[in-house]
This record gives sequence, structure tokens and C-alpha cells, in this order.
Amino acid sequence: GPVFGHSWEGKEKGPENCRSAYWPCATFGEARNFASQKQPLPTRSKFMCGIVGYVGHRDVKDFLIEGLRRLEYRGYDSAGIAVMGADGVAVRKRVGKVNELASLVETSPVTGKMGMGHTRWATHGKPEERNAHPHLDGSGRLAVVQNGIIENFRTLREELQAEGVVFRSDTDTEVIPHLLSRELGRLVAAGRRPSGSLLLEGLQAILPRLHGEN
Ligand code: GLU
Repeated sequence: GPVFGHSWEGKEKGPENCRSAYWPCATFGEARNFASQKQPLPTRSKFMCGIVGYVGHRDVKDFLIEGLRRLEYRGYDSAGIAVMGADGVAVRKRVGKVNELASLVETSPVTGKMGMGHTRWATHGKPEERNAHPHLDGSGRLAVVQNGIIENFRTLREELQAEGVVFRSDTDTEVIPHLLSRELGRLVAAGRRPSGSLLLEGLQAILPRLHGEN
């Protein structure tokens, strides 16, 4: 299954010609400057939290932890990573500092060459481990990180719950993996083959249902 990061706002060419990025949740222009200068933004943005992603040839966990460290100055209450490995998507989360997440990843390692990380500034759902990102769909094959607020999440949550979807967090964000999973299920049931482009198509289909500040 794919690892998927929502609201990725920029990217740079990394070493070894990998697609890699560290970027805070800022405007696209800010993120682009940040990426080209490879240093933190000089001022604290009104948007907090951060997202980092990597797809490449190296083992991803150190890259993700380092990326989250570079985004720490923006402020956050919890941090997490998802790594796509041989056995599927593995998630590690911690309330508190990126160092605590790093210790968890030391004692409970994750291996893979594709992954994403997130530092969270809670808006919906207390700063607790189960509310930290990434969030998974019911199958555990889709992982999502998000910056911002989904204002109509309650309606979407109730709609999904009425169909039997079980939520594991109190966040607005968790509606995304479940909506996407449902949409991909529909597309596959209609005879489409699972692929990266089908994932994009599924995402494009659900985005208009999300209202808010992303
Ligand atoms: N609204 C989301 C949450 O509370 C994202 C917050 C953020 O941007 O870190 O999980």
C-alpha cells in the first residue's frame, strides 16, 4: 500500500537524485525559499507544525527525524512518522519532543525507503499519542499527515461512522484516510487497478469534500 502525505507544500532535489523535502506548513513561496536556503525560516509563521517526506534509496528514518528536528522551532506538541517497509506501513508517535520520538524509534526501529513525518500543533483533539499524526485508514495501508483545519470534519466523521468506520483519534485529520480508503475501494470495485495514479485520482475526488484551512 502507498504512504501518502497530504498538504505537502514543496519539494527539492536531494542527494542521490532522490525526491526529498523538509518544509513547514507555510505558504508555497515560503516553503520554496526554505527549501532552497536549506535553513529555517527567520520568523515564526502564524502556521505551526511541520511536514517532512522522503522517497528514495536510503533508509528513511534518520532523514525523517532530522527533518522534524529542523522544523521544531515552529512549535509543536507531538510528533510522528510513518515508514513504508517490507511489511507495510509502520507508525511511531510520541507526545512531546522529537527527541522522545527518536528514542522510541531507537528501541522500536522502522525500516524503509519511503516515509513521512509530522510535528503537530493540536487544533482538534488533545495533544495525546493517539491524536498525533500520521493517521491510518482501517486497513492500515494508507497514512496521512495534514496541516490545517478541516472545518466540516464532524459531518464527515458521522457519515463514515454510520457506514461502520471506526475512528482511533479525536482529530479532524482522521477523516482523510477513511474517505480516501472508501473512494479507492469504490474505484477498485469498478475495475480500476491500484496504482499511484489511482491514489492521486482518489485524492482529487475527495478533496472537494474537505472544507477549511489547508
Ligand atoms: N488540525 C490538525 C490536528 O489537530 C492538524 C494540526 C496541525 O496543523 O498540526 O491534528
